[in-house]
Formats: sequence, structure tokens, C-alpha cells
Amino acid sequence: MSEDTLSQRLHSIQAHLPPHVRLIAVTKQVPVAVIRHAYELGLRDFGESRVQEAQAKAALLQDLPDLTWHLIGHLQSNKARLALQQFSWIHSVDSLALAQKLDHLNQTLQRPAQLLLQVKLRPDPHKHGWTIPDLLTALPALSRLRHVHIKGLMTILPLGLSPAERQHLFRELPALGAQLQSHLPLKEYSMGMSDDYPQALAAGATMIRLGRCLFGERPPITPPDESAS
Ligand SMILES: *Cc1c(COP(=O)(O)O)cnc(C)c1O
Repeated sequence: MSEDTLSQRLHSIQAHLPPHVRLIAVTKQVPVAVIRHAYELGLRDFGESRVQEAQAKAALLQDLPDLTWHLIGHLQSNKARLALQQFSWIHSVDSLALAQKLDHLNQTLQRPAQLLLQVKLRPDPHKHGWTIPDLLTALPALSRLRHVHIKGLMTILPLGLSPAERQHLFRELPALGAQLQSHLPLKEYSMGMSDDYPQALAAGATMIRLGRCLFGERPPITPPDESAS
């Protein structure tokens, strides 16, 4: 992809973006040179699905002082320590055990991890994330964690919905966040990818995660939303 294409794509997306929305450029499988160009175009937030891929890239981009890395893929608990060293935001916290582990590690690492809880708005045994009943059950324990900052919710929609259905379903995420306010002060809603971000914006997204609509199609290796870290 030519560099001008990235600049054009970025500008046409930014033209529709409310100022409070954080655009996260999803750079899985995107070469470091292209990330560097994205940085030159003003992007500072980068999303990766795998801890090691992000670490390798960050090592090559150390001269850029103000990058913010977001982990958006499933995190295995044996990589939790590495993830805290690399990422300022972890969008994919999907179990109480993982949240507790991050809390415990933060006591010694002194890194303020900002966490989002990944929610399945519709049950799907093949996807990571909390079902709503499981999240409600875990709330008291989550609200007792003192060394992590649980800032919001993240979701990935099921496939095959119409735009109207997507927007409707996305609205359930901030509504759920409002319902949890008395336990957790949530204000970030990470929702919307290349194919559905307009509906996510309309439904109150504060962070959108865009890969293909910025960088073009990725080679087919693993399904985009479930790649293991
Ligand atoms: C890959 C990925 C994205 C970006 O998807 P695109 O369709 O390329 O915009 C966003 N969120 C998650 C969790 C992903 O895994």
C-alpha cells in the first residue's frame, strides 16, 4: 500500500470522528515502517493482538517516545507480566482470574495498567469475553481490586448483523456500563472495527479499533478477533 493511501484513508476517517474518540490503529501483521509512517501522520495509539509481536515492534520503535500500546487480543495468564510491561491498556480482560493476576502483578511492577473488560453481548462459546451474567457475578470481586484501574468495556460483535442491528447491539455496551456504575466507574467503551465503526460511533464508542480500513487487508492467518496472545 502506498503511503499516500494511508494518509487519505486516515483523513477521511478522522473527518467523521468526534474529538473525544480515540482512534486505535490495529497494527497486527503491519510492518514497522508502516507504523512509523502512521506515527508521522499523527497516530499515537496502536493495537496489537499478540504480546510478543507488539514487543518486537516496540523495540524497533523505541525512538518514538509517546506511543501508547493497546492489547486487544486474548491474554494468557502466563503472559500477563510481559503484557503489563508492554501495554498501557489491556482491552481483553475476560476472566476474574486474569483480572486478579494483573492486580497482583501490579503490586510489584508499579505500572498502572488501564483495563477494559471484554464482554460478549450475545453468548458465543467460541469467543472470549464475559457473558453478562458472569460479569454481574464477578462484580463485587472486581470492585475490590486495588492495583488495577478498570476503565471500561470492550466488545466485538457477532458476524452477520445488519447495520441497524449492529448499532442496536452496540448500544447495549454503554447501557451495561451505566448499570455497573455503582461498582465500577466505567467510562470507556472500546467498540467498532473496520466494518462496523460508524455504528459503534453512533452508539457511544469512546475508542475504535481500526486495522484493515487503514492498512488494507491482512494475509489470512488467524481469525482476526480470536488470535491468541
Ligand atoms: C483485528 C482486530 C481489530 C481490527 O479489525 P479490522 O477489521 O482490521 O479493523 C479490532 N479489534 C480486535 C479485537 C481485533 O482483533
